[in-house]
Amino acid sequence: MSLEVKNSGLIVSEELLRLFEGIGEGMIVTNRFGEIVGINKAAEKIFGVSKDVNLHKNSAALLKGLCDPNTKKQVLQPHLPFNQTIATERPVESREFLLKRPDGKQLYVQISTSPFFGDDRVLAGTLGILIDVTNRRKLEETLTQRNLQLSAINRIATLLNRTIDFREVLEYSVRQTMEIFTGDAGAVLLPDKAGRRIFVAASANLSEDFLSEVHGSEIASTVFGRVLTSDTVESISRTENFELMPRSMKRSPFASVVVFPLKAKGKAVGVGALFSEAERVLEDSQREIIEGIGTVIGAAIENSRLHEETIQKTRLLESKNRELQQFTYAITHDLKSPILVIEGFARELKRSGSLEVEQDVLIEAIMSSSARLHSLVNDLLDLARVGSVEAVVEETDLAELVNRVLNDLSIRLTEKRVKVSLEGTFPKLDIVARYVERVFMNLIDNAIKYTGEQPNPQLTIGAQDKGDHYLFFVRDNGIGIPQEFHERIFAIFQRVKTSDTEKVEGSGLGLSFVKKIVELSGGSVWVESAGKGKGATFYFTLPKQ
Ligand code: ADP
Repeated sequence: MSLEVKNSGLIVSEELLRLFEGIGEGMIVTNRFGEIVGINKAAEKIFGVSKDVNLHKNSAALLKGLCDPNTKKQVLQPHLPFNQTIATERPVESREFLLKRPDGKQLYVQISTSPFFGDDRVLAGTLGILIDVTNRRKLEETLTQRNLQLSAINRIATLLNRTIDFREVLEYSVRQTMEIFTGDAGAVLLPDKAGRRIFVAASANLSEDFLSEVHGSEIASTVFGRVLTSDTVESISRTENFELMPRSMKRSPFASVVVFPLKAKGKAVGVGALFSEAERVLEDSQREIIEGIGTVIGAAIENSRLHEETIQKTRLLESKNRELQQFTYAITHDLKSPILVIEGFARELKRSGSLEVEQDVLIEAIMSSSARLHSLVNDLLDLARVGSVEAVVEETDLAELVNRVLNDLSIRLTEKRVKVSLEGTFPKLDIVARYVERVFMNLIDNAIKYTGEQPNPQLTIGAQDKGDHYLFFVRDNGIGIPQEFHERIFAIFQRVKTSDTEKVEGSGLGLSFVKKIVELSGGSVWVESAGKGKGATFYFTLPKQ
């Protein structure tokens, strides 16, 4: 500790001097003019001065290095904590300064000052405690930087989340990266399917020259293609690796470029490029953040691509479906006339009367087969027509509708001695009555058909209000349906083949009607059955709106 006391009446005992030296924090003493008159070892270290510095000469120079940590400008003398303490005779606590030392080193220092007085109670000077907070400050700065960058990633992710449109995703990506990293131009490049060439998918502020040189270039021939393969960020500037840039770049105003992979599911699906007129060196923390942004953009590109593909596939499926429907309709329609001809000729032959008994039996067989074929073709035509022909939606009382169906089937219900019961309240709904009638007709008809050996066949038809939709069911106690057929029976021509169903005639079209109609009406249909001999319940829903 060197202590010079001038005109201050300041008396510092040897003991106090030793105490100062022993203290780990930096300590300085100023006289009442704000000049440093004493400094301990820790403070010397902070100011970067040697032990035998001539304080009297150097005080002003040392204090000149204290700058505002935000503006980085020198703090004027009256604003230094020592001088403020001198002016107010009060302590100034824990203010932080950026200390620019003459040797070029920069530190952050926290300074607290207190006044001290001489025996005459007149202000003698100030005592300042200095703490080097550079490490803490640096940590804080890194954290703030991290935070800013993370929020940048977050912002770009939020923005990209707003759209699934492929073009918009690409354009947002270019604009956002330019904004976050204050770039002057940017581009997103994507490879072709074969992975041989790379194309500029979106760009901003790049010359035609550059675009035509890079667009469609071979992967291995440019830095963009190489980043795609190597999967690592490349930073190129006029002074470093600039020869890697396309020729047109050399004539451009750009002095540096960052090329980064755009990743989805751990694989590079494209590259991003950020150009700036300033010569820029990519810091490690920026590298990490640009990698993060690359992952966000890559995922967004992949999502929108999948979305686009799904739309295209759906369109293709819809058109194929329409084609198929027209095809089915045309075929069945064409089948109808030859059947009518066969039926007609067979009828004529029978009517001519001059037939042997045997021939008569054969003609009967032809007639019944063609009658079956006729009804099958009619059903197929009907099925193809459901949904493709305009149907009238009207308010319909479902109770009346179900009773009408039961009435139509009354003879068969009586023949089979089926006990019918209704459950719940049947609503009025806006539906295509003809269609829903067919659904109940097919389900109830099946319940009668598939009673098996059941001595007391029972049929329950029910309705339940489920809030936004109604649930209907048709339950029987007949032969039941094995689990593995529960889905399949709704497909066209699918029938369960067991000894129970062998003798029951059917085309395998009834439930296809049910499914098509219910789904067209916005509902769903399924069956529940505990298995063979346990009966079956068919459920279907219809929306209220
Ligand atoms: P079809 O009755 O003309 O054969 P469907 O499409 O109406 O055609 O029914 C498909 C198959 O589902 C039937 O062949 C039958 O095996 C089974 N099935 C339908 N309804 C019932 C039922 N209520 N009980 C048992 N099996 C049924």
